[in-house]
Amino acid sequence: MVDIDFFGGVDEIGGNKIQVKGKEASFFFDFGMGFGRANDYLAEFLQPRKANGILDFVALGLLPCIKGIYREDYLRHTGLSYESEPALDGVLISHSHVDHVSYIHHLREDIPIYLSEQSYLILKALEDTGTTSFSDYLHLKKSFQLIPKKRGEGHTRANVKVDRQIQIIKPYKEFEMGDFRIRSAPVDHSLPGASGYIADNGEDTIVYTGDLRFHGQKPEITQKFVEMAQKCDPTIMISEGTRIDSTENISEADIEKLAVEQVDKSKGLVVVNYPVRDLDRLVTFFNVAKDTDRQLVVSLKQAYLLNLFSGQGYPEINEVMVYKPRKGWGLVGDDSYACVEDEWLCTSDIDPTHVQRDYKNWERDYLDWDNTITYRDLQEEPEEYIFRCDFFELKELIDIKPENGVYIKSSTEPFDDQMEINEEKVKRWLNLFNLPLVKGGFHASGHANGREILNMIREIEPQKLYPIHTEHAESFDILKEDGIEVVHPVLSKKS
Ligand SMILES: [Zn+2]
Ligand SMILES: [Zn+2]
Repeated sequence: MVDIDFFGGVDEIGGNKIQVKGKEASFFFDFGMGFGRANDYLAEFLQPRKANGILDFVALGLLPCIKGIYREDYLRHTGLSYESEPALDGVLISHSHVDHVSYIHHLREDIPIYLSEQSYLILKALEDTGTTSFSDYLHLKKSFQLIPKKRGEGHTRANVKVDRQIQIIKPYKEFEMGDFRIRSAPVDHSLPGASGYIADNGEDTIVYTGDLRFHGQKPEITQKFVEMAQKCDPTIMISEGTRIDSTENISEADIEKLAVEQVDKSKGLVVVNYPVRDLDRLVTFFNVAKDTDRQLVVSLKQAYLLNLFSGQGYPEINEVMVYKPRKGWGLVGDDSYACVEDEWLCTSDIDPTHVQRDYKNWERDYLDWDNTITYRDLQEEPEEYIFRCDFFELKELIDIKPENGVYIKSSTEPFDDQMEINEEKVKRWLNLFNLPLVKGGFHASGHANGREILNMIREIEPQKLYPIHTEHAESFDILKEDGIEVVHPVLSKKS
């Protein structure tokens, strides 16, 4: 029998950290952040300190206390022991949402991270363009390192970066980890690259769903995963249940139809907020823009992501417009000035290298493209564009000053206090700029509904089922009538 320990994802949506131990190998399914627990203690300016290694995270119950899995710099810095060999053979990533990957940052670099190519690309974008201080997903930047100065006596703080052991896995192709034979299968979810897993060690066959749905753009891949899992006669299934109590399903096609009607009615700028890494939703609004003779305007971050996914069936970067915001000194347009030797010069008279300096290295590639636009373009021809604008970009409205526009909310409803507060702030911004808010029907969930989840489990027919990633694990108990042993996981507190 395998041992399974749940260090997250128990009675909460996300935070999956599930350890599977066989005779010869031990691995985790995902290693993500539990939003609920993190939000119980933390806020924007109240964050764990790097100075305390993993200990702030452990003290708050965000990271489990397990020997042999955490990075050497964080352990030694706080006087904790570091084992010479890792106590883990790998982490199998289901997809690159932070509630599944975020805490990889804390793992030692010699623990292999298994993931799909698309999940890898998203982690690359998160690492390259992210602003958080805990985002060592593909590389580990060693902290607390001193090296001898090149000149003179003493030491200097060093930037040492080491590669993690990244294993990009091919869908459906079997690989081995100790006594486990493992296969991944793509599933449809609200970002590219999501996978389910089937792991078999001769004694047990474990099916792990990750997050999935049947009403997205590719329901057939989720169905193929279900058929594959069913054929394996699993002894154990670990299933997500985010929407176990929900019956509703809005599809991308529904959103597209509704949005086209809405955009057709609008004479001004259409502003839309959808999740940055949900490329299916980007495709939806790309299609809406095409159908309404507009162009979709994306942020630099989304442009970077699209570029990484070039050739994979999403719009190419030159098919959308890229928005260049004012940053740093804000040298965009000729009503911004800088003082050059006592003379105040406008942007076009200033050496462009100084304008570039306002932007991060990865952003500079996009600044002077033909399809790069600024607030002036949106101001002058608002009826030509659909502008993606998330919470942090609302300040752009001050520059754009939209008239006769509309704001389409195409993101999930608030599910915690902070999101409620931010939602109120969004409403104030929209009032200030006379942008009517349209919502309802513009968001498709990344998760299957209750009926679909129960039918999936009945079809796969595991001996034992662990419901996770849900606040309503009791709703799975109905499966006992089908002869399935439903076990409610308990949060492990092992050290
Ligand atoms: Zn999740
Ligand atoms: Zn997810």
